[in-house]
Amino acid sequence: NLKMGIVGLPNVGKSTFFNTLTKKNVPAENFPFCTIEPNEARVGVPDERFDWLCQHWKPASQVSAYLDVWDIAGLVKNASQGEGLGNAFLSNIQAVDGIFHMCRVFSDRDVTHVEGEVDPVRDLEIIFNELRLKDLERLDKLLPDAEQKVVRAGNKCPKDLKEARDTLAKAKKCLEEDKLPLRVAGWSNAEVEVLNQHLFLTAKPAVFLVNMSEKDYVRKKNKWLGKIKEWVDKHSGELIIPFSAALEEKLVELEVNDGKEAADKYVTQLGVNSALDKIVKSGYKTLRLIYFFTAGHDEVKCWTIRDGSLAPQAAGTIHTDFEKGFVCAEVMKFGEYKQLGSESAVKAAGKYKQQGKLYRVEDGDIIFFKFGR
Ligand code: GDP
Repeated sequence: NLKMGIVGLPNVGKSTFFNTLTKKNVPAENFPFCTIEPNEARVGVPDERFDWLCQHWKPASQVSAYLDVWDIAGLVKNASQGEGLGNAFLSNIQAVDGIFHMCRVFSDRDVTHVEGEVDPVRDLEIIFNELRLKDLERLDKLLPDAEQKVVRAGNKCPKDLKEARDTLAKAKKCLEEDKLPLRVAGWSNAEVEVLNQHLFLTAKPAVFLVNMSEKDYVRKKNKWLGKIKEWVDKHSGELIIPFSAALEEKLVELEVNDGKEAADKYVTQLGVNSALDKIVKSGYKTLRLIYFFTAGHDEVKCWTIRDGSLAPQAAGTIHTDFEKGFVCAEVMKFGEYKQLGSESAVKAAGKYKQQGKLYRVEDGDIIFFKFGR
């Protein structure tokens, strides 16, 4: 399972946000064969198409797509030098596939900031630097090895050894001289293959979450937003989502205690939306995940796959036998199904397609797999 990790300095609102996600967990009975760890939230991915299919079929069971999010306890300055629990935090980051990088712009006299004054740009810099230094430390071990292999091979050095060395040297330059994360440099397919062997921290895609006070979130203003955007654009140009952890927490509590209407009413009065859906969707997208549907009276279910997966791989997420014995995928597009109203109408319109092994599954496909043994 691909997962996002929440990363940030202490006291920026990570646990508040994580606990909010936990309260939105999809029911554990949907996942009989896997345990959810205490530092893991499994949040449903909101989707109107899924809601429509559930309304339509009124199935006995419904399973939405979900995003796995890990809480990675406070990273501190000098973590890359092994200070405190620093190294453990960094290795937790190694285990996730994408990062929610959270920074704090709310001020609160009761909540101290580890670095003194609130300054999110300094905080972004601290975290980025720790990740960068950790990657450099690894490169300083990997590069001489790769170099030595090339030297030893002499004149007859195979291309891939040279490629490995050159890629690592390029990575080192990117981090050391350009001071940029590895994910923003342009890489060829061969280079990507080399990098993929090493799980570098700055190669992981990120979404930047800016934790504001409720008041600032409502008036959509905070003096740091422009500076954060400038910093992010300079480093990776990735998505920035302003939100308020305190507000999201309040909304989840309202929902749990008084129902969804009460929470909706509260935000409507404020004239804003909860940012949670947007955050969850952004994480899903960052991991390059899409899903297809299976739908019927028994069950409506979203099946998560990596964007670009072919039909047999997609079938394999349902059951390994489906992949091995794949015969074909019968595919309807959600939009057409919704418009025409039934499978037979879709068939009559000639839009019910039998797709073979090379079909690249698209987000929102409704699929029925045929397989033999
Ligand atoms: P973590 O160390 O990053 O996990 O931070 P926490 O989630 O534990 O938050 C630290 C403190 O800040 C807690 O007392 C939270 O209640 C408080 N806090 C979190 N988000 C907000 C916010 O948006 N506004 C205010 N005023 N306090 C917040």
